[in-house]
This record gives sequence, structure tokens and C-alpha cells, in this order.
Amino acid sequence: MNRFDYDVAIIGGGSAGYAAARTTAGAGLKTIVVEGGEEVGGLCILRGCMPTKALLYAAEVLHLAGHPQPWGIRTGKVGFDFKTVMARKNALVKDFADYRVQQLDAGKFRFIRADARFVNQHTVALNPFCGSGRKSAPINQSRLTSAATITARNFVIATGSVVAPSPLQQLTEAGFITSDDALALKKLPKSLIVLGGGAVACEFAQFFARFGVKVTLIQRSPHILKEFDTDAAVEIEKVFRREGIRVFTGTKLVDVKREGKLKTISFVHDAKTISVAAEEILFALGRIPNTASLNLEKAGVKTERGRIIADDFMRTSASHIYTGGDCTGPHEIVHLAVQQGEIAAHNIANPKAPRRMDYRLLISVVFTEPQVAFVGLTEKEATARGIPHQTASYPFNDHGKSLIMEAKDGFVKLLADPKSGEILGGSCVGPVGGELLHEIVAAMAKRMAVHELATMPHYHPTLAEIWTYPAEELAEKILSSTSSGAKP
Ligand SMILES: Cc1cc2nc3c(=O)[nH]c(=O)nc-3n(C[C@H](O)[C@H](O)[C@H](O)COP(=O)(O)OP(=O)(O)OC[C@H]3O[C@@H](n4cnc5c(N)ncnc54)[C@H](O)[C@@H]3O)c2cc1C
Repeated sequence: MNRFDYDVAIIGGGSAGYAAARTTAGAGLKTIVVEGGEEVGGLCILRGCMPTKALLYAAEVLHLAGHPQPWGIRTGKVGFDFKTVMARKNALVKDFADYRVQQLDAGKFRFIRADARFVNQHTVALNPFCGSGRKSAPINQSRLTSAATITARNFVIATGSVVAPSPLQQLTEAGFITSDDALALKKLPKSLIVLGGGAVACEFAQFFARFGVKVTLIQRSPHILKEFDTDAAVEIEKVFRREGIRVFTGTKLVDVKREGKLKTISFVHDAKTISVAAEEILFALGRIPNTASLNLEKAGVKTERGRIIADDFMRTSASHIYTGGDCTGPHEIVHLAVQQGEIAAHNIANPKAPRRMDYRLLISVVFTEPQVAFVGLTEKEATARGIPHQTASYPFNDHGKSLIMEAKDGFVKLLADPKSGEILGGSCVGPVGGELLHEIVAAMAKRMAVHELATMPHYHPTLAEIWTYPAEELAEKILSSTSSGAKP
């Protein structure tokens, strides 16, 4: 007889948790998913990728409609109905969330609504009351009526992340909105200060600016999007400024005050103290792993600043407990959360044939316009890690299809191994950059070299053919350096 109630208990029913459950149940393991959120769906669907991209697409349509002149088109005055914009976003989110609920509640594994917390290495206590103190809404048979415990042989912890705490007491006192609040606004503020310069900050800054909000973005690092190469960040800063966003980088926050209806932030920039006032502040300084209430010490699971420490097999310091997604990182990216959940589950089901995470094809996309994207190595990272590389870039303002589209901002860039020509990384700042990047993802997955990419057929005129220019340039450089190197 099995000593445990379940083979696998998965804590968290978001992207990583659902991927893990589908995999363990598919492998025939008796699985339970415990989901403690007030709503079911996970961050990506409810308050992350999908709602933000729905709003950004609306902002893109509005921007295009408001700037038709280059094509000889007149539209008259272009307006919008913010309620309808938000309603469309909400309807999409509801559809995605309903589908996820169906997947979770389809009977392939047990799905239960409760907050989980470890009691010992193989037992979790389930509390039907979610974090807010409200009882979580039941779906079908998933209702838990009173506190209970369950035991499992293995666990997957997939509890996601929460907004990072405010770094300044004055900011807490003045008040701010988070990305969650921004997605639920009924009315646009007249002016907004965006604190932060990562993907979430940049996407919201452009969304609000395109909807007529006076936006100021304040970032501590010398450039926004600090994990990207500086040339990419500079390009998007240029576009933001052209669209009327005030961008301050290399700043240090000094004070925040509420004065009447306005909130004022003071910061040091270029050795001067500057104050900016706005109706609202969007706090976009990142998220932290959601692990504080799990009692992880009872389970023997080690963390570092809240982040669950895991190896490439997604195994934690307790060898029967695995993890995946934002609660472990190192990247808060949904397809990685899914992959980590699947790998954790696969390794529980197949301990003799384990799989490991490989971040060689790390992808990052920021859905501003132009989009900013990279796969594999950036120049910054290759240099920091001492990886030999050659680079070549090509701008969209000299490319047929992007000229037709008046999409002249940005460039593509390739990094290649100086000897073999293997593609080590690609970046794209440009029209549908996140889509275009996937050609390089495929090429890198198959370990293609630049000369192979350069000779691969590309239809004309497409945006995608822009990749052939840096590929050709690198192929020539590498060929000439290797042939000259071969001479005695
Ligand atoms: C504004 C925004 C935009 C984003 N845009 C993108 C994007 O465009 N592309 C991209 O790749 N990524 C994006 N992300 C990141 C992406 O959403 C996350 O990386 C991904 O959703 C994480 O999935 P997860 O399964 O780790 O966590 P989640 O989806 O958050 O799931 C964790 C689940 O665990 C539950 N839970 C927590 N604690 C407990 C407990 N004690 N007991 C039971 N259940 C618990 C929670 O209720 C939650 O449902 C964005 C994030 C934000 C905030």
C-alpha cells in the first residue's frame, strides 16, 4: 500500500504548476494541484503576458491610426473609448482563464483551491482561505470546506512571484499603483511616473503615453532594459523621447511626497536634484519569489533571498521536492516556467533518465514598438563572460520592407563564433522584432553557422530577409580571417 495520499503534489496552478501536473498525470502518477489564488489562471493569463499584450496592441492600433500621413491617408481626429479598450482586454483574459480552469479541472489530476504550507518533508497543510482572508471561490468539485493535510511522495513548488516591496518608506506613504492595478484602471490618470526600466516598466510607459497620459520614466541604471545591449536600449530611449515620454536614467531616488492631488518624486540625475510631479506613480521595480508563507524550512528546501535554490534538474535541496517558474527563476519568462515545470515532472516520473534545463537559447522580448528582443548571447554578456565573438548589425532604415512600412527604428544584430561561424546570439529592435527573432532561435537550435543563414532562401520583400545582411557580413569576415589565418 502507498504510504502517501499522492505520488505528486503540485503547489500553484499557474503556468509552471499546470505544465508539471499535465506531465506527471500523463506519466500515470497520482497527482494533485493545490491553487491558492483568489482567481484561477496564473500570472501570465490574469495579470501578466496576455492582458498587457492585449493593451499594447490596442495602443499600436491607436498610434498607427493617429499617424497615417506617410501613406497619404487622412483619418480625421482619432479618439478612443478607454472602457471598451479595457473591456476587450478583460474578455480575452476571461476566455484564456476559463480555458485554463477547464484544463485544471478536467479530471486528469485532482485540483483543489487552498493555500498550501509545509508541515514536514512530505506533508502540506491546506487552508481554504486564500491570502486575502477570503475563502477562494470553488470551481466544480474543487472546494475544500475545512483545513486539511495531504501527504505526497514528491512535490513541485510553483508558487510564482509577488510585487517587490517598496524601497522607500516615503513611496509607501505617498501611495502607488502596481502592474496589477494598472490593468484594472477604470480611468486614465492625466500624468504618470513610471519607476523602473525593465520590460514591464517600458511596456506600460509606452501604453500610457500612446493613450495620452503624460509619462515620465525614472530608472536607476545608466540605460533602460539593462539586460539588453546598450545600442538596443539607446534606440528605444530615442523612440520613447520622440513619443513624448520623459526618460531619466542613471538616477537615485531621494524623496517622494504627496502634495494635494499630485505625487512628487525627487531624484538625483547628473549631479542635480530634479523633482517630477504626477497624478499617479506606477511601481515597476520588479517582483520577488512568492515563497514567504510556505514554511520551506520544515521541508528542508533552501532559498536565497526568497528564491528557491534548484539545480538544472529543477531539484531543490530536499531531493524529493522539485520546483519551477518565478519562485525559482532565474528568469521570469513564461515559456521557461512551463519548461521548468515539465522538466521537474519528467524527472519525478523518470529518475533514471533525467532531463536538465539549458538556457543556451534564452529569449527575451519586450513588446514596445519597436519590439526589443534577443536570443542566446548579447554582446554585453559575451564580453563579460570572455566568450570570443564577432558581431554585425544592419539597420531597418536601410531595408526595403521596413521602408515600405515606415518602420525605420532599430536594427538586427548577430553574434557568431569567430572560428566556426556558429550563431551565438541574435538581437532585434524593430517591427515585430519578437516574431522575427524566432528565425534565429530556430537557426541556433540547429547550431547553424552564419554562412548557412546567409545562403538560406528568404522571400523578397520581407522583414525577415534583413537577417541575411549581418549573416553575409559575418560569413565574409570569418571566412577571410580563417583563410588568412591558415596561411603560413
Ligand atoms: C505585467 C507582466 C507582464 C508579463 N509579460 C510577460 C510576457 O510578455 N512574456 C513572458 O514570457 N512573461 C511575462 N511575464 C512573466 C510571466 O507572467 C511569469 O514568468 C509566469 O506567469 C510565471 O508563471 P508561474 O507558474 O511561475 O507563476 P504563476 O502563474 O504566478 O503561478 C503561481 C500560482 O501559485 C499560486 N500560489 C501561490 N502561493 C500558493 C500557496 N501557498 N498555495 C497554493 N497556491 C499558491 C498562485 O495563486 C498562482 O496561481 C509578465 C509578468 C508581468 C507581471
